Amino acid sequence: MSHNDCIFCKILDGEIPSAKVYEDDHVYAFLDISQVTKGHTLIIPKTHTKNIYETPPEVAKELFARVPKIAGAIKEVYQPIGMNLLNNNEEPADQSVFHLHIHLIPRYGDGDGFSSNWTTHTNDYSSEDLQQIAKDINSTIDS
Ligand code: AMP
Ligand code: ZN
Repeated sequence: MSHNDCIFCKILDGEIPSAKVYEDDHVYAFLDISQVTKGHTLIIPKTHTKNIYETPPEVAKELFARVPKIAGAIKEVYQPIGMNLLNNNEEPADQSVFHLHIHLIPRYGDGDGFSSNWTTHTNDYSSEDLQQIAKDINSTIDS
Protein backbone atom coordinates (compact mmCIF):
# COMPACT_ATOMS: atom_id res chain seq x y z
CA MET A 1 0.00 0.00 0.00
CA SER A 2 1.48 3.30 -1.09
CA HIS A 3 0.80 6.49 0.80
CA ASN A 4 0.33 9.77 -1.03
CA ASP A 5 2.56 12.04 0.92
CA CYS A 6 5.13 9.46 1.88
CA ILE A 7 8.55 10.18 0.45
CA PHE A 8 9.69 6.57 0.86
CA CYS A 9 6.59 5.27 -0.97
CA LYS A 10 7.56 7.68 -3.75
CA ILE A 11 11.02 6.14 -3.77
CA LEU A 12 9.42 2.69 -3.99
CA ASP A 13 7.26 3.87 -6.90
CA GLY A 14 10.30 5.33 -8.65
CA GLU A 15 8.89 8.87 -8.47
CA ILE A 16 11.88 10.00 -6.44
CA PRO A 17 15.36 8.75 -7.35
CA SER A 18 17.41 6.78 -4.89
CA ALA A 19 20.70 4.90 -4.74
CA LYS A 20 19.44 1.33 -4.55
CA VAL A 21 21.47 -1.09 -2.48
CA TYR A 22 19.11 -4.08 -2.54
CA GLU A 23 15.56 -5.01 -3.46
CA ASP A 24 13.31 -8.05 -3.32
CA ASP A 25 9.58 -8.75 -2.92
CA HIS A 26 9.43 -7.50 0.65
CA VAL A 27 12.06 -4.83 1.17
CA TYR A 28 13.98 -2.03 -0.49
CA ALA A 29 17.34 -0.77 0.74
CA PHE A 30 18.96 2.46 -0.41
CA LEU A 31 21.58 4.94 0.69
CA ASP A 32 20.51 7.62 3.12
CA ILE A 33 20.78 10.91 1.25
CA SER A 34 22.47 12.38 4.33
CA GLN A 35 25.29 9.89 4.81
CA VAL A 36 26.30 9.84 8.46
CA THR A 37 29.15 7.53 7.52
CA LYS A 38 30.11 5.94 4.20
CA GLY A 39 27.59 3.25 3.30
CA HIS A 40 24.83 4.51 5.64
CA THR A 41 21.86 2.53 4.36
CA LEU A 42 18.14 2.54 5.02
CA ILE A 43 16.07 -0.60 4.72
CA ILE A 44 12.30 -0.27 4.39
CA PRO A 45 9.35 -2.62 3.97
CA LYS A 46 7.54 -2.34 0.64
CA THR A 47 4.30 -2.16 2.62
CA HIS A 48 3.73 1.31 4.03
CA THR A 49 3.71 1.26 7.80
CA LYS A 50 4.20 4.41 9.83
CA ASN A 51 6.57 3.13 12.45
CA ILE A 52 7.24 0.18 14.72
CA TYR A 53 3.96 0.55 16.62
CA GLU A 54 1.91 0.02 13.49
CA THR A 55 3.99 -2.75 12.01
CA PRO A 56 2.46 -6.22 11.70
CA PRO A 57 4.79 -9.01 12.89
CA GLU A 58 5.03 -10.46 9.39
CA VAL A 59 6.30 -7.16 7.97
CA ALA A 60 8.78 -6.81 10.84
CA LYS A 61 9.94 -10.37 10.31
CA GLU A 62 10.60 -9.94 6.59
CA LEU A 63 12.29 -6.58 7.17
CA PHE A 64 14.66 -7.69 9.88
CA ALA A 65 15.41 -10.94 8.09
CA ARG A 66 17.23 -8.92 5.40
CA VAL A 67 19.34 -6.86 7.78
CA PRO A 68 22.17 -9.37 8.36
CA LYS A 69 23.00 -9.85 4.70
CA ILE A 70 22.92 -6.13 3.91
CA ALA A 71 25.01 -5.37 6.99
CA GLY A 72 27.37 -8.14 5.95
CA ALA A 73 27.73 -6.68 2.45
CA ILE A 74 28.53 -3.22 3.82
CA LYS A 75 31.08 -4.81 6.13
CA GLU A 76 32.67 -6.69 3.27
CA VAL A 77 33.05 -3.71 0.93
CA TYR A 78 34.07 -0.96 3.33
CA GLN A 79 35.40 -2.93 6.29
CA PRO A 80 33.90 -0.78 9.01
CA ILE A 81 35.04 -1.67 12.50
CA GLY A 82 31.47 -1.76 13.78
CA MET A 83 27.84 -1.20 12.79
CA ASN A 84 24.94 0.51 14.54
CA LEU A 85 21.32 -0.25 13.71
CA LEU A 86 18.92 2.54 14.48
CA ASN A 87 15.15 2.83 14.27
CA ASN A 88 13.47 6.09 15.29
CA ASN A 89 9.79 6.12 16.20
CA GLU A 90 7.79 9.35 16.49
CA GLU A 91 9.07 12.88 16.27
CA PRO A 92 10.41 13.23 19.82
CA ALA A 93 12.56 10.20 19.06
CA ASP A 94 13.89 11.82 15.86
CA GLN A 95 11.63 10.12 13.35
CA SER A 96 11.40 12.46 10.37
CA VAL A 97 10.09 10.13 7.68
CA PHE A 98 6.95 8.28 8.67
CA HIS A 99 7.52 5.05 6.78
CA LEU A 100 9.24 2.46 8.93
CA HIS A 101 12.97 2.21 8.29
CA ILE A 102 16.07 0.81 9.89
CA HIS A 103 19.32 2.73 9.59
CA LEU A 104 22.45 0.67 9.08
CA ILE A 105 25.33 2.89 10.09
CA PRO A 106 28.79 1.45 9.54
CA ARG A 107 31.35 2.68 12.05
CA TYR A 108 34.90 3.65 11.28
CA GLY A 109 36.16 4.90 14.61
CA ASP A 110 36.01 7.99 16.82
CA GLY A 111 34.80 11.08 15.02
CA ASP A 112 33.32 9.11 12.13
CA GLY A 113 30.11 11.16 12.37
CA PHE A 114 27.93 8.98 14.55
CA SER A 115 27.52 9.08 18.27
CA SER A 116 24.80 7.86 20.55
CA ASN A 117 24.63 9.88 23.70
CA TRP A 118 22.80 8.44 26.58
CA THR A 119 23.03 8.78 30.30
CA THR A 120 22.53 5.75 32.47
CA HIS A 121 20.53 5.93 35.68
CA THR A 122 21.55 2.66 37.25
CA ASN A 123 21.42 4.02 40.77
CA ASP A 124 17.87 5.34 40.40
CA TYR A 125 16.37 1.85 40.08
CA SER A 126 16.49 -0.86 42.72
CA SER A 127 16.21 -4.48 41.65
CA GLU A 128 12.61 -4.38 42.96
CA ASP A 129 11.95 -1.39 40.70
CA LEU A 130 13.34 -3.32 37.76
CA GLN A 131 11.15 -6.34 38.57
CA GLN A 132 8.08 -4.10 38.81
CA ILE A 133 8.81 -2.30 35.53
CA ALA A 134 9.40 -5.60 33.75
CA LYS A 135 6.11 -6.91 35.15
CA ASP A 136 4.21 -3.78 34.05
CA ILE A 137 5.44 -4.16 30.51
CA ASN A 138 5.09 -7.93 30.39
CA SER A 139 1.50 -7.87 31.58
CA THR A 140 0.62 -5.53 28.73
CA ILE A 141 2.10 -7.70 25.99
CA ASP A 142 -0.59 -9.55 24.04
CA SER A 143 0.33 -13.17 23.88
P1 AMP B 1 14.60 9.31 10.51
O1 AMP B 1 15.08 10.62 11.03
O2 AMP B 1 15.01 8.13 11.31
O3 AMP B 1 13.11 9.35 10.20
O4 AMP B 1 15.38 9.09 9.15
C1 AMP B 1 14.95 9.54 7.93
C2 AMP B 1 16.15 9.52 7.03
O5 AMP B 1 15.72 9.59 5.70
C3 AMP B 1 17.10 10.71 7.26
O6 AMP B 1 18.35 10.23 7.69
C4 AMP B 1 17.17 11.35 5.87
O7 AMP B 1 18.47 11.78 5.54
C5 AMP B 1 16.68 10.26 4.96
N1 AMP B 1 16.08 10.72 3.73
C6 AMP B 1 15.12 11.66 3.60
N2 AMP B 1 14.81 11.81 2.30
C7 AMP B 1 15.56 10.92 1.62
C8 AMP B 1 15.70 10.60 0.22
N3 AMP B 1 14.97 11.21 -0.71
N4 AMP B 1 16.58 9.65 -0.12
C9 AMP B 1 17.33 9.04 0.83
N5 AMP B 1 17.24 9.29 2.13
C10 AMP B 1 16.38 10.23 2.53
ZN1 ZN C 1 5.36 5.00 2.74
